[in-house]
Amino acid sequence: MALATGGGGWRKPANAGRYTPAGAGCRLGAEAEPSLRHLLIILACSGLVTCSQTPSLLAQIQALGELRVVTRNSLTTYYVGLEGPMGPEYELARGLADQLGVGLYIYTPDSFDTTLAELISNRAHVAAAGLTVTPARRTRVDFGPPYGEVYPQLVQRLGAPQVRSLEALAALEDVRLQVLAGSSHVELLERLAKLHPTLHWEAVQTVDVDELLSRVANGDADFTLVDSSEFQVARHLYPELRAVFDVGEPEPVAWALTRRRNDPSLREAVSRYFAALEAEAELAGLFQRYLEPVGDYDYVSTRAFVTHFDTRLPKYRDYFHAAATETGFDWRLLAAVGYQESHWNPKAVSPTGVRGIMMLTQRTANALEIEDRVDPFQSIMGGARYLAQQHARIPDRIPEPDRTWLALAAYNIGWGHLEDARVLTEINGADPDSWADVRDHLPLLTQRQWYSRVRRGFARGWQPVHYVDNIQRYYQVLQWMTAGEQIAEEELIAGPGRSP
Ligand code: GLU
Repeated sequence: MALATGGGGWRKPANAGRYTPAGAGCRLGAEAEPSLRHLLIILACSGLVTCSQTPSLLAQIQALGELRVVTRNSLTTYYVGLEGPMGPEYELARGLADQLGVGLYIYTPDSFDTTLAELISNRAHVAAAGLTVTPARRTRVDFGPPYGEVYPQLVQRLGAPQVRSLEALAALEDVRLQVLAGSSHVELLERLAKLHPTLHWEAVQTVDVDELLSRVANGDADFTLVDSSEFQVARHLYPELRAVFDVGEPEPVAWALTRRRNDPSLREAVSRYFAALEAEAELAGLFQRYLEPVGDYDYVSTRAFVTHFDTRLPKYRDYFHAAATETGFDWRLLAAVGYQESHWNPKAVSPTGVRGIMMLTQRTANALEIEDRVDPFQSIMGGARYLAQQHARIPDRIPEPDRTWLALAAYNIGWGHLEDARVLTEINGADPDSWADVRDHLPLLTQRQWYSRVRRGFARGWQPVHYVDNIQRYYQVLQWMTAGEQIAEEELIAGPGRSP
Protein backbone atom coordinates (compact mmCIF):
# COMPACT_ATOMS: atom_id res chain seq x y z
CA MET A 1 0.00 0.00 0.00
CA ALA A 2 1.52 3.24 -1.12
CA LEU A 3 1.06 5.21 2.05
CA ALA A 4 2.26 2.63 4.50
CA THR A 5 5.29 1.38 2.65
CA GLY A 6 6.50 4.03 0.29
CA GLY A 7 7.17 7.08 2.32
CA GLY A 8 10.58 7.92 3.55
CA GLY A 9 9.95 10.13 6.52
CA TRP A 10 6.55 8.67 7.20
CA ARG A 11 6.07 7.63 10.78
CA LYS A 12 3.44 5.45 12.29
CA PRO A 13 1.39 7.57 14.64
CA ALA A 14 1.57 6.71 18.31
CA ASN A 15 -2.06 5.67 18.26
CA ALA A 16 -1.46 2.96 15.69
CA GLY A 17 -4.74 1.32 16.48
CA ARG A 18 -6.57 4.11 14.74
CA TYR A 19 -5.12 2.93 11.46
CA THR A 20 -6.89 0.11 9.75
CA PRO A 21 -4.84 -3.01 9.04
CA ALA A 22 -2.58 -3.06 6.01
CA GLY A 23 -4.44 -3.79 2.85
CA ALA A 24 -7.72 -2.52 4.17
CA GLY A 25 -7.44 1.00 2.82
CA CYS A 26 -6.08 4.05 4.44
CA ARG A 27 -7.17 6.96 6.48
CA LEU A 28 -6.02 10.50 6.76
CA GLY A 29 -6.24 10.67 10.49
CA ALA A 30 -6.00 13.83 12.55
CA GLU A 31 -3.05 12.23 14.29
CA ALA A 32 -0.84 12.33 11.17
CA GLU A 33 1.84 15.01 11.35
CA PRO A 34 0.64 18.30 9.85
CA SER A 35 3.38 18.48 7.24
CA LEU A 36 2.80 14.94 6.14
CA ARG A 37 -0.92 15.52 6.11
CA HIS A 38 -0.53 18.52 3.88
CA LEU A 39 1.70 16.59 1.58
CA LEU A 40 -0.76 13.74 1.36
CA ILE A 41 -3.65 16.07 0.68
CA ILE A 42 -1.68 17.72 -2.08
CA LEU A 43 -0.73 14.36 -3.57
CA ALA A 44 -4.27 13.11 -3.30
CA CYS A 45 -5.67 16.22 -4.89
CA SER A 46 -3.15 16.05 -7.66
CA GLY A 47 -4.17 12.48 -8.36
CA LEU A 48 -0.66 11.14 -7.73
CA VAL A 49 -1.90 9.04 -4.82
CA THR A 50 -5.39 7.63 -4.59
CA CYS A 51 -6.63 7.37 -1.13
CA SER A 52 -10.09 6.50 0.01
CA GLN A 53 -11.60 6.68 3.47
CA THR A 54 -11.95 3.19 5.01
CA PRO A 55 -15.61 2.34 4.82
CA SER A 56 -17.39 1.99 8.12
CA LEU A 57 -18.28 -1.49 9.34
CA LEU A 58 -21.89 -0.80 8.43
CA ALA A 59 -20.88 0.23 4.92
CA GLN A 60 -18.77 -2.91 4.69
CA ILE A 61 -21.76 -5.06 5.65
CA GLN A 62 -23.81 -3.33 3.01
CA ALA A 63 -21.10 -3.80 0.40
CA LEU A 64 -20.81 -7.47 1.36
CA GLY A 65 -24.59 -7.77 1.05
CA GLU A 66 -24.69 -9.97 4.11
CA LEU A 67 -25.08 -9.62 7.86
CA ARG A 68 -23.17 -12.44 9.50
CA VAL A 69 -24.68 -13.59 12.74
CA VAL A 70 -23.39 -16.25 15.10
CA THR A 71 -25.95 -17.81 17.41
CA ARG A 72 -26.69 -20.97 19.34
CA ASN A 73 -29.47 -23.52 19.08
CA SER A 74 -32.17 -23.12 21.62
CA LEU A 75 -35.87 -22.51 21.67
CA THR A 76 -35.05 -19.12 23.20
CA THR A 77 -32.64 -18.15 20.41
CA TYR A 78 -32.59 -19.97 17.08
CA TYR A 79 -33.75 -23.31 15.77
CA VAL A 80 -34.96 -24.84 12.59
CA GLY A 81 -38.62 -25.63 12.87
CA LEU A 82 -40.84 -27.35 10.37
CA GLU A 83 -41.34 -24.12 8.48
CA GLY A 84 -37.64 -23.25 8.46
CA PRO A 85 -35.54 -21.06 10.73
CA MET A 86 -37.27 -19.68 13.82
CA GLY A 87 -36.61 -18.29 17.26
CA PRO A 88 -36.52 -14.82 18.80
CA GLU A 89 -32.86 -14.18 17.98
CA TYR A 90 -33.39 -15.37 14.43
CA GLU A 91 -36.33 -13.02 13.98
CA LEU A 92 -34.42 -10.12 15.44
CA ALA A 93 -31.39 -10.78 13.22
CA ARG A 94 -33.61 -11.22 10.19
CA GLY A 95 -35.30 -7.89 10.97
CA LEU A 96 -32.00 -6.01 11.09
CA ALA A 97 -30.73 -7.64 7.90
CA ASP A 98 -33.97 -6.70 6.14
CA GLN A 99 -33.74 -3.17 7.40
CA LEU A 100 -30.17 -2.89 6.13
CA GLY A 101 -31.24 -4.41 2.82
CA VAL A 102 -28.79 -7.29 3.08
CA GLY A 103 -29.04 -11.06 3.34
CA LEU A 104 -28.72 -12.88 6.63
CA TYR A 105 -26.05 -15.48 7.18
CA ILE A 106 -26.78 -17.15 10.48
CA TYR A 107 -24.81 -20.04 11.89
CA THR A 108 -23.88 -21.85 15.08
CA PRO A 109 -20.26 -22.62 16.01
CA ASP A 110 -19.24 -26.11 17.15
CA SER A 111 -19.02 -24.93 20.70
CA PHE A 112 -20.61 -22.01 22.54
CA ASP A 113 -17.18 -21.26 23.93
CA THR A 114 -16.03 -19.88 20.58
CA THR A 115 -18.95 -17.48 20.07
CA LEU A 116 -17.02 -14.33 20.92
CA ALA A 117 -13.98 -15.56 18.99
CA GLU A 118 -16.18 -15.51 15.90
CA LEU A 119 -16.63 -11.77 16.43
CA ILE A 120 -13.03 -11.07 17.30
CA SER A 121 -11.80 -12.86 14.18
CA ASN A 122 -14.36 -10.94 12.09
CA ARG A 123 -16.12 -14.07 10.91
CA ALA A 124 -19.34 -12.68 12.35
CA HIS A 125 -20.60 -9.15 12.81
CA VAL A 126 -23.12 -9.92 15.53
CA ALA A 127 -23.52 -12.63 18.17
CA ALA A 128 -27.24 -12.99 18.80
CA ALA A 129 -27.28 -15.86 21.24
CA GLY A 130 -29.12 -14.85 24.40
CA LEU A 131 -25.82 -13.49 25.67
CA THR A 132 -25.50 -12.09 29.14
CA VAL A 133 -23.56 -8.84 29.36
CA THR A 134 -20.67 -9.63 31.71
CA PRO A 135 -17.64 -7.62 32.85
CA ALA A 136 -15.19 -10.03 31.21
CA ARG A 137 -17.06 -10.01 27.92
CA ARG A 138 -17.15 -6.22 27.89
CA THR A 139 -13.38 -6.18 27.68
CA ARG A 140 -13.50 -8.18 24.45
CA VAL A 141 -16.53 -7.07 22.48
CA ASP A 142 -19.15 -4.33 22.27
CA PHE A 143 -22.75 -4.85 23.25
CA GLY A 144 -25.95 -3.52 21.77
CA PRO A 145 -28.68 -2.25 24.07
CA PRO A 146 -29.97 -4.82 26.58
CA TYR A 147 -33.22 -6.28 25.35
CA GLY A 148 -34.01 -8.50 28.29
CA GLU A 149 -33.06 -9.64 31.74
CA VAL A 150 -32.48 -13.18 32.98
CA TYR A 151 -31.77 -14.84 36.29
CA PRO A 152 -29.26 -17.66 36.47
CA GLN A 153 -31.08 -20.61 38.03
CA LEU A 154 -29.78 -23.76 39.62
CA VAL A 155 -31.61 -26.74 38.17
CA GLN A 156 -31.87 -30.23 39.63
CA ARG A 157 -33.98 -33.36 39.22
CA LEU A 158 -37.22 -33.80 41.10
CA GLY A 159 -36.91 -36.48 43.70
CA ALA A 160 -33.27 -35.72 44.53
CA PRO A 161 -32.75 -34.05 47.94
CA GLN A 162 -33.40 -30.39 47.33
CA VAL A 163 -30.47 -28.02 47.65
CA ARG A 164 -31.67 -24.64 48.86
CA SER A 165 -28.61 -22.42 48.92
CA LEU A 166 -25.19 -21.92 47.49
CA GLU A 167 -23.66 -22.81 50.85
CA ALA A 168 -25.48 -26.14 50.78
CA LEU A 169 -24.34 -26.75 47.21
CA ALA A 170 -20.72 -25.92 48.04
CA ALA A 171 -20.85 -28.28 51.03
CA LEU A 172 -21.85 -31.29 48.91
CA GLU A 173 -19.13 -33.76 48.02
CA ASP A 174 -18.75 -35.35 44.59
CA VAL A 175 -21.43 -33.15 43.20
CA ARG A 176 -21.73 -33.00 39.44
CA LEU A 177 -22.59 -29.39 38.59
CA GLN A 178 -22.22 -28.95 34.84
CA VAL A 179 -22.37 -25.62 33.03
CA LEU A 180 -21.91 -24.46 29.47
CA ALA A 181 -18.21 -23.82 28.73
CA GLY A 182 -17.61 -20.16 27.92
CA SER A 183 -20.93 -19.10 29.39
CA SER A 184 -21.71 -16.28 31.74
CA HIS A 185 -22.35 -18.97 34.32
CA VAL A 186 -18.71 -19.99 34.37
CA GLU A 187 -17.81 -16.38 35.02
CA LEU A 188 -20.42 -16.17 37.77
CA LEU A 189 -19.20 -19.38 39.42
CA GLU A 190 -15.62 -18.12 39.32
CA ARG A 191 -16.73 -15.03 41.22
CA LEU A 192 -18.79 -17.05 43.69
CA ALA A 193 -15.98 -19.52 44.29
CA LYS A 194 -14.04 -16.71 45.96
CA LEU A 195 -16.71 -16.74 48.68
CA HIS A 196 -17.32 -20.50 48.55
CA PRO A 197 -13.96 -22.10 47.76
CA THR A 198 -15.39 -25.63 47.89
CA LEU A 199 -17.74 -24.92 45.01
CA HIS A 200 -16.84 -27.19 42.09
CA TRP A 201 -18.19 -27.41 38.60
CA GLU A 202 -17.43 -28.81 35.20
CA ALA A 203 -17.59 -26.69 32.04
CA VAL A 204 -19.06 -28.76 29.19
CA GLN A 205 -18.10 -28.02 25.60
CA THR A 206 -21.36 -27.92 23.75
CA VAL A 207 -23.39 -25.36 21.92
CA ASP A 208 -26.60 -26.43 23.47
CA VAL A 209 -28.09 -25.49 26.85
CA ASP A 210 -30.65 -28.21 26.21
CA GLU A 211 -27.89 -30.81 26.39
CA LEU A 212 -27.08 -29.76 29.95
CA LEU A 213 -30.72 -29.97 30.95
CA SER A 214 -31.09 -33.40 29.44
CA ARG A 215 -27.99 -34.57 31.32
CA VAL A 216 -29.57 -33.55 34.60
CA ALA A 217 -32.88 -35.12 33.56
CA ASN A 218 -31.10 -38.39 32.65
CA GLY A 219 -29.01 -38.46 35.81
CA ASP A 220 -25.70 -37.84 33.99
CA ALA A 221 -25.30 -34.65 36.01
CA ASP A 222 -26.78 -33.54 39.34
CA PHE A 223 -27.12 -29.84 38.68
CA THR A 224 -26.80 -27.26 36.00
CA LEU A 225 -26.97 -23.51 35.95
CA VAL A 226 -29.02 -21.98 33.15
CA ASP A 227 -30.79 -18.74 32.39
CA SER A 228 -34.33 -18.39 33.69
CA SER A 229 -35.52 -17.89 30.10
CA GLU A 230 -34.09 -21.30 29.18
CA PHE A 231 -35.74 -23.01 32.10
CA GLN A 232 -39.07 -21.33 31.46
CA VAL A 233 -39.30 -23.23 28.19
CA ALA A 234 -37.43 -26.35 29.25
CA ARG A 235 -39.71 -27.22 32.15
CA HIS A 236 -42.36 -28.11 29.58
CA LEU A 237 -39.99 -30.53 27.91
CA TYR A 238 -38.38 -31.84 31.09
CA PRO A 239 -41.09 -31.91 33.73
CA GLU A 240 -38.75 -33.93 35.95
CA LEU A 241 -36.52 -30.87 36.42
CA ARG A 242 -36.97 -28.00 38.80
CA ALA A 243 -35.24 -24.68 39.32
CA VAL A 244 -34.32 -24.64 42.98
CA PHE A 245 -33.07 -21.10 43.43
CA ASP A 246 -31.81 -18.04 41.60
CA VAL A 247 -28.07 -17.62 41.73
CA GLY A 248 -26.89 -14.03 41.86
CA GLU A 249 -28.58 -10.97 40.51
CA PRO A 250 -30.69 -10.46 37.37
CA GLU A 251 -28.43 -9.98 34.38
CA PRO A 252 -28.96 -8.01 31.16
CA VAL A 253 -29.01 -9.84 27.84
CA ALA A 254 -27.87 -8.17 24.62
CA TRP A 255 -26.28 -8.76 21.24
CA ALA A 256 -22.49 -8.79 21.21
CA LEU A 257 -20.93 -6.89 18.33
CA THR A 258 -17.60 -6.84 16.58
CA ARG A 259 -15.58 -4.11 18.18
CA ARG A 260 -13.98 -1.57 15.84
CA ARG A 261 -12.12 1.36 17.22
CA ASN A 262 -13.57 4.70 16.24
CA ASP A 263 -16.27 2.99 14.28
CA PRO A 264 -19.57 2.97 16.13
CA SER A 265 -21.55 2.50 12.91
CA LEU A 266 -22.83 -1.03 13.63
CA ARG A 267 -23.46 -0.33 17.30
CA GLU A 268 -25.45 2.76 16.39
CA ALA A 269 -27.46 0.91 13.76
CA VAL A 270 -28.24 -1.84 16.27
CA SER A 271 -29.23 0.72 18.92
CA ARG A 272 -31.56 2.47 16.49
CA TYR A 273 -33.06 -0.85 15.48
CA PHE A 274 -33.78 -1.92 19.06
CA ALA A 275 -35.05 1.53 20.03
CA ALA A 276 -37.60 1.35 17.20
CA LEU A 277 -38.68 -2.15 18.24
CA GLU A 278 -39.01 -0.96 21.80
CA ALA A 279 -41.04 2.07 20.76
CA GLU A 280 -43.45 -0.12 18.85
CA ALA A 281 -43.64 -2.58 21.76
CA GLU A 282 -42.59 -5.33 19.36
CA LEU A 283 -39.80 -6.72 21.49
CA ALA A 284 -42.03 -7.79 24.33
CA GLY A 285 -44.47 -9.39 21.91
CA LEU A 286 -41.72 -11.31 20.17
CA PHE A 287 -40.42 -12.89 23.35
CA GLN A 288 -43.89 -13.48 24.67
CA ARG A 289 -44.78 -15.39 21.52
CA TYR A 290 -41.83 -17.71 21.89
CA LEU A 291 -41.23 -17.94 25.58
CA GLU A 292 -44.40 -17.44 27.50
CA PRO A 293 -46.28 -20.65 27.85
CA VAL A 294 -49.96 -20.42 27.19
CA GLY A 295 -51.87 -21.21 30.37
CA ASP A 296 -50.52 -22.25 33.71
CA TYR A 297 -47.81 -24.79 34.14
CA ASP A 298 -49.12 -27.99 35.59
CA TYR A 299 -46.60 -30.70 36.41
CA VAL A 300 -48.98 -33.64 36.20
CA SER A 301 -50.47 -32.77 32.84
CA THR A 302 -47.11 -31.74 31.41
CA ARG A 303 -45.58 -35.02 32.54
CA ALA A 304 -48.45 -36.94 30.94
CA PHE A 305 -48.15 -34.93 27.73
CA VAL A 306 -44.43 -35.62 27.39
CA THR A 307 -45.02 -39.32 28.05
CA HIS A 308 -47.85 -39.52 25.55
CA PHE A 309 -45.74 -37.68 23.00
CA ASP A 310 -43.31 -40.61 23.13
CA THR A 311 -45.73 -43.48 23.64
CA ARG A 312 -48.91 -42.59 21.79
CA LEU A 313 -48.29 -39.91 19.20
CA PRO A 314 -45.82 -41.92 17.03
CA LYS A 315 -48.65 -44.31 16.07
CA TYR A 316 -50.80 -41.49 14.73
CA ARG A 317 -48.30 -38.97 13.45
CA ASP A 318 -48.61 -40.07 9.83
CA TYR A 319 -52.37 -39.68 10.07
CA PHE A 320 -52.04 -36.14 11.38
CA HIS A 321 -49.60 -35.41 8.54
CA ALA A 322 -52.07 -36.76 6.00
CA ALA A 323 -54.93 -34.74 7.49
CA ALA A 324 -52.72 -31.64 7.50
CA THR A 325 -51.86 -32.11 3.84
CA GLU A 326 -55.52 -32.39 2.97
CA THR A 327 -56.79 -29.48 5.03
CA GLY A 328 -53.83 -27.09 5.11
CA PHE A 329 -53.57 -26.94 8.92
CA ASP A 330 -50.25 -27.45 10.64
CA TRP A 331 -50.17 -31.14 11.63
CA ARG A 332 -49.13 -30.14 15.13
CA LEU A 333 -52.26 -28.04 15.54
CA LEU A 334 -54.36 -31.06 14.56
CA ALA A 335 -52.34 -33.22 16.93
CA ALA A 336 -52.94 -30.65 19.69
CA VAL A 337 -56.67 -30.85 19.01
CA GLY A 338 -56.45 -34.66 19.15
CA TYR A 339 -54.63 -34.46 22.47
CA GLN A 340 -57.19 -32.11 23.94
CA GLU A 341 -60.00 -34.34 22.75
CA SER A 342 -58.76 -37.78 23.77
CA HIS A 343 -55.10 -37.65 24.92
CA TRP A 344 -54.51 -39.54 21.65
CA ASN A 345 -56.48 -42.47 22.93
CA PRO A 346 -58.55 -44.01 20.12
CA LYS A 347 -60.77 -45.80 22.63
CA ALA A 348 -61.79 -42.60 24.39
CA VAL A 349 -65.52 -42.29 25.03
CA SER A 350 -67.30 -39.45 26.76
CA PRO A 351 -70.52 -39.68 28.78
CA THR A 352 -72.24 -37.71 26.03
CA GLY A 353 -71.37 -40.37 23.46
CA VAL A 354 -68.54 -38.71 21.57
CA ARG A 355 -65.81 -41.12 20.62
CA GLY A 356 -62.39 -41.68 19.16
CA ILE A 357 -59.20 -39.65 18.91
CA MET A 358 -61.02 -36.55 17.68
CA MET A 359 -64.14 -37.25 19.76
CA LEU A 360 -66.70 -36.91 17.00
CA THR A 361 -70.41 -37.20 17.66
CA GLN A 362 -72.31 -39.75 15.63
CA ARG A 363 -74.09 -36.88 13.87
CA THR A 364 -70.87 -35.18 12.86
CA ALA A 365 -69.41 -38.50 11.76
CA ASN A 366 -72.47 -39.13 9.60
CA ALA A 367 -72.32 -35.66 8.11
CA LEU A 368 -68.66 -36.20 7.28
CA GLU A 369 -69.43 -39.65 5.88
CA ILE A 370 -67.14 -41.30 8.39
CA GLU A 371 -67.91 -45.00 8.65
CA ASP A 372 -66.05 -45.81 11.83
CA ARG A 373 -65.33 -42.89 14.13
CA VAL A 374 -63.28 -45.10 16.47
CA ASP A 375 -60.82 -45.92 13.68
CA PRO A 376 -57.87 -43.54 14.35
CA PHE A 377 -57.27 -42.64 10.70
CA GLN A 378 -60.91 -41.94 9.97
CA SER A 379 -61.32 -40.02 13.20
CA ILE A 380 -58.32 -37.79 12.54
CA MET A 381 -59.35 -37.14 8.93
CA GLY A 382 -62.91 -36.46 10.03
CA GLY A 383 -61.88 -34.09 12.82
CA ALA A 384 -59.55 -32.18 10.50
CA ARG A 385 -62.26 -31.85 7.85
CA TYR A 386 -64.78 -30.67 10.42
CA LEU A 387 -62.32 -28.07 11.69
CA ALA A 388 -61.66 -26.98 8.10
CA GLN A 389 -65.42 -26.51 7.63
CA GLN A 390 -65.63 -24.29 10.71
CA HIS A 391 -62.56 -22.39 9.55
CA ALA A 392 -64.11 -21.75 6.14
CA ARG A 393 -67.17 -20.21 7.82
CA ILE A 394 -65.11 -17.64 9.72
CA PRO A 395 -65.01 -14.44 7.65
CA ASP A 396 -61.97 -14.14 5.40
CA ARG A 397 -61.17 -10.68 6.71
CA ILE A 398 -60.16 -12.14 10.09
CA PRO A 399 -56.43 -12.77 9.99
CA GLU A 400 -54.59 -15.72 11.48
CA PRO A 401 -54.16 -16.88 14.12
CA ASP A 402 -57.50 -15.46 15.36
CA ARG A 403 -59.36 -17.17 12.56
CA THR A 404 -58.09 -20.56 13.68
CA TRP A 405 -58.83 -19.89 17.37
CA LEU A 406 -62.37 -18.84 16.48
CA ALA A 407 -62.74 -21.96 14.31
CA LEU A 408 -61.61 -24.11 17.23
CA ALA A 409 -64.13 -22.44 19.53
CA ALA A 410 -66.82 -23.19 16.94
CA TYR A 411 -65.58 -26.80 16.73
CA ASN A 412 -66.10 -27.06 20.47
CA ILE A 413 -69.28 -25.14 21.19
CA GLY A 414 -70.92 -24.99 17.77
CA TRP A 415 -71.02 -22.27 15.19
CA GLY A 416 -74.25 -20.69 16.44
CA HIS A 417 -73.10 -20.16 20.01
CA LEU A 418 -69.84 -18.71 18.79
CA GLU A 419 -71.81 -16.28 16.66
CA ASP A 420 -73.85 -15.32 19.74
CA ALA A 421 -70.67 -14.66 21.71
CA ARG A 422 -69.42 -12.48 18.87
CA VAL A 423 -72.67 -10.51 18.97
CA LEU A 424 -72.24 -9.95 22.73
CA THR A 425 -68.66 -8.90 22.09
CA GLU A 426 -69.86 -6.30 19.66
CA ILE A 427 -72.66 -5.08 21.97
CA ASN A 428 -70.00 -4.40 24.59
CA GLY A 429 -67.92 -2.34 22.22
CA ALA A 430 -65.18 -4.94 21.82
CA ASP A 431 -63.94 -6.50 18.58
CA PRO A 432 -65.91 -9.59 17.43
CA ASP A 433 -63.06 -10.46 15.04
CA SER A 434 -60.51 -10.70 17.84
CA TRP A 435 -60.18 -14.03 19.62
CA ALA A 436 -59.00 -12.29 22.81
CA ASP A 437 -62.18 -10.18 22.90
CA VAL A 438 -64.52 -13.04 22.00
CA ARG A 439 -62.77 -15.20 24.60
CA ASP A 440 -63.66 -12.60 27.24
CA HIS A 441 -67.32 -12.64 26.22
CA LEU A 442 -67.95 -16.36 25.71
CA PRO A 443 -68.53 -17.01 29.44
CA LEU A 444 -71.39 -14.46 29.40
CA LEU A 445 -73.45 -17.11 27.60
CA THR A 446 -74.08 -18.69 31.01
CA GLN A 447 -75.72 -15.53 32.40
CA ARG A 448 -79.41 -14.91 31.79
CA GLN A 449 -79.03 -11.16 31.39
CA TRP A 450 -76.72 -11.86 28.46
CA TYR A 451 -77.86 -15.11 26.88
CA SER A 452 -81.43 -13.77 26.79
CA ARG A 453 -80.24 -11.17 24.29
CA VAL A 454 -78.91 -13.62 21.69
CA ARG A 455 -80.48 -16.13 19.33
CA ARG A 456 -79.41 -19.50 20.64
CA GLY A 457 -79.53 -18.66 24.32
CA PHE A 458 -77.65 -20.40 27.11
CA ALA A 459 -74.36 -22.19 26.45
CA ARG A 460 -71.45 -23.32 28.59
CA GLY A 461 -69.34 -20.50 27.27
CA TRP A 462 -66.31 -21.11 29.50
CA GLN A 463 -65.86 -24.52 27.89
CA PRO A 464 -64.48 -23.30 24.52
CA VAL A 465 -62.27 -20.88 26.47
CA HIS A 466 -60.54 -23.75 28.29
CA TYR A 467 -60.62 -25.81 25.14
CA VAL A 468 -58.79 -23.23 23.01
CA ASP A 469 -56.41 -22.31 25.85
CA ASN A 470 -55.39 -25.95 26.22
CA ILE A 471 -54.95 -26.49 22.51
CA GLN A 472 -52.78 -23.38 22.28
CA ARG A 473 -50.62 -24.74 25.07
CA TYR A 474 -50.32 -28.22 23.54
CA TYR A 475 -49.65 -26.71 20.15
CA GLN A 476 -46.89 -24.54 21.54
CA VAL A 477 -45.26 -27.44 23.36
CA LEU A 478 -45.52 -29.59 20.22
CA GLN A 479 -43.80 -26.85 18.26
CA TRP A 480 -41.01 -26.83 20.81
CA MET A 481 -40.75 -30.60 20.88
CA THR A 482 -40.56 -30.94 17.12
CA ALA A 483 -38.32 -27.93 16.55
CA GLY A 484 -35.39 -28.74 14.34
CA GLU A 485 -36.71 -32.16 13.46
CA GLN A 486 -36.82 -31.70 9.76
CA ILE A 487 -33.59 -29.99 8.83
CA ALA A 488 -30.57 -31.06 10.82
CA GLU A 489 -28.16 -28.67 9.14
CA GLU A 490 -26.01 -26.74 11.51
CA GLU A 491 -25.53 -23.86 9.15
CA LEU A 492 -28.17 -22.16 7.23
CA ILE A 493 -28.09 -19.32 4.84
CA ALA A 494 -31.26 -17.38 4.45
CA GLY A 495 -31.66 -14.08 2.73
CA PRO A 496 -32.39 -12.37 -0.52
CA GLY A 497 -30.75 -14.22 -3.34
CA ARG A 498 -29.57 -17.09 -1.17
CA SER A 499 -31.69 -20.04 -0.45
CA PRO A 500 -31.41 -22.13 2.69
N1 GLU B 1 -26.82 -16.35 28.82
C1 GLU B 1 -25.85 -17.38 28.84
C2 GLU B 1 -24.53 -16.77 28.45
O1 GLU B 1 -24.49 -15.67 28.04
C3 GLU B 1 -26.16 -18.50 27.89
C4 GLU B 1 -27.42 -19.24 28.21
C5 GLU B 1 -27.34 -20.22 29.32
O2 GLU B 1 -26.26 -20.80 29.56
O3 GLU B 1 -28.37 -20.45 29.98
O4 GLU B 1 -23.52 -17.36 28.54
